[in-house]
Amino acid sequence: MTARIIDGKAVAAGLRQRIAARVAGLGYRPGLRVVRVGDDPASGVYVRNKDKAAKEVGFDSATIALPAETTEAELLAVVAQLNADPAVDGILVQLPLPPQIRAEVVISAVAPEKDADGFHPLNAGRLASGQAGLVPCTPKGVMHLLAASGAVLPGARAVVLGRSNIVGRPMAQLLLAADCTVTIVHSRTRDLPAECRRAEILVAAVGRAEMVRGDWIAEGATVIDVGINRLADGRLVGDVAYAEAAARAEAISPVPGGVGPMTIACLLENTLDAAIARRAPRGG
Ligand code: NDP
Repeated sequence: MTARIIDGKAVAAGLRQRIAARVAGLGYRPGLRVVRVGDDPASGVYVRNKDKAAKEVGFDSATIALPAETTEAELLAVVAQLNADPAVDGILVQLPLPPQIRAEVVISAVAPEKDADGFHPLNAGRLASGQAGLVPCTPKGVMHLLAASGAVLPGARAVVLGRSNIVGRPMAQLLLAADCTVTIVHSRTRDLPAECRRAEILVAAVGRAEMVRGDWIAEGATVIDVGINRLADGRLVGDVAYAEAAARAEAISPVPGGVGPMTIACLLENTLDAAIARRAPRGG
């Protein structure tokens, strides 16, 4: 079997087009502010890509670049200003933050209704208890990819490799909400390959280059590779050994060109949803 490729670039382009069409009909431009602290080069690329994509769909987008020595209190003051600004619908504080700033404090300071990343504990709690809220962009993007791939989710055995707050945990919650039977595996799991082999849907978000080998994949599985790992020779690879896995899977997302483009598209979708929810006339 050679797997179908789940083309994240194409799915993301379609999603961005639908977002642009919705924005054109709004009569206002949703406001997105990306806050960057310091000059981590990888963050710089992400932030520029987010800003460009936001402008392309018609958002009022701007980046606030703060020096590496910014204190936690200074960053919290910027977040408070954005929380209070009626033109701002979505706020994203780019991670990682410098060591003098506690990420969890900053994440909790973002107004939950403007939490474009979906990382605020209130939104995490809403997701875990099945209520509507803003959902982290990467797992949300994976759900779009699964839908585009035609995978049948209700009743499917899904295995999520990784349990971080930004990918693994919310991923498991979304799959559970879609009626999968979900297993989360991590660094303390006994016999990872055996657990992964039980998966009809396997989502790898572990941050270890090509850790998931072909013989960890069940014949006919759908494999979504969230990992982004740069090898010494400069190549970008996922958490899954792609060629080996593609020989057994029914469908697989590549790296690059799989989940990566979806994350930005879902940031735009979250910001648009936040704008509509926040600006809607309240009942009563
Ligand atoms: P984290 O480092 O926060 O979490 C990694 C998870 O993998 C942890 O739960 C950890 O387990 C588990 N893990 C690590 N090593 C092993 C191992 N040897 N065996 C089993 N489990 C292991 O990473 P993130 O969730 O933030 O990111 C995961 C990957 O996804 C990275 O490659 C990252 O670059 C990529 N990523 C891609 C995005 C995109 O847009 N495509 C967006 C965000 C992330 P434990 O909890 O037990 O320590």
